[in-house]
Amino acid sequence: MSNQDVGVVIALISLAVALTGAVMSRRALRRSSYRTSADLVLEADRIFLDRPELRCFFYEGLECPPKGDKQYGQVKAAAEFYLDILETIWDHRGEFARTDRMAWREWIHDLLEWSPSIRDTYLESPRLYPTIRFLIEWEPCAFPEEHEWVAVRPGPTGSGPAFTLKRFLRSAPMIGGYINR
Ligand SMILES: [Zn+2]
Repeated sequence: MSNQDVGVVIALISLAVALTGAVMSRRALRRSSYRTSADLVLEADRIFLDRPELRCFFYEGLECPPKGDKQYGQVKAAAEFYLDILETIWDHRGEFARTDRMAWREWIHDLLEWSPSIRDTYLESPRLYPTIRFLIEWEPCAFPEEHEWVAVRPGPTGSGPAFTLKRFLRSAPMIGGYINR
């Protein structure tokens, strides 16, 4: 084997080692994203183990009590906590497998649909939740009939550009048929 061949073999081995390392670290990152998200959901569940009386404001569509009500502060704090959790989970979206990403997205849509307190808290300061804002305004929705609040927001999820483009493509079968294949 010539010196040149040895050089090529060494270069190939180095490349294989580097690729293996990259794959391993990518897997480790994905694992840690899944673990973080699962832990955060358990944290959110704990709110209702500690204070079951708050659950109806998050899963049964009950409006937040008015300011001055003794539950107001608790519901607002829980809504902010929930939004921080959703924001953190969706921040990991790039690490989720395709089907899991969709499942997380639809779960966030569910919560926005079920909880006026989460919606109102988000709408008071959307800039505090940039990744949730991106999800609401730019991500598609698999169940628009169940997620009406998200489905009518501005942006491609609801009546925005992508949604309109889809409608246009459907109404122009030749282009749509080509692009939608
Ligand atoms: Zn949805």
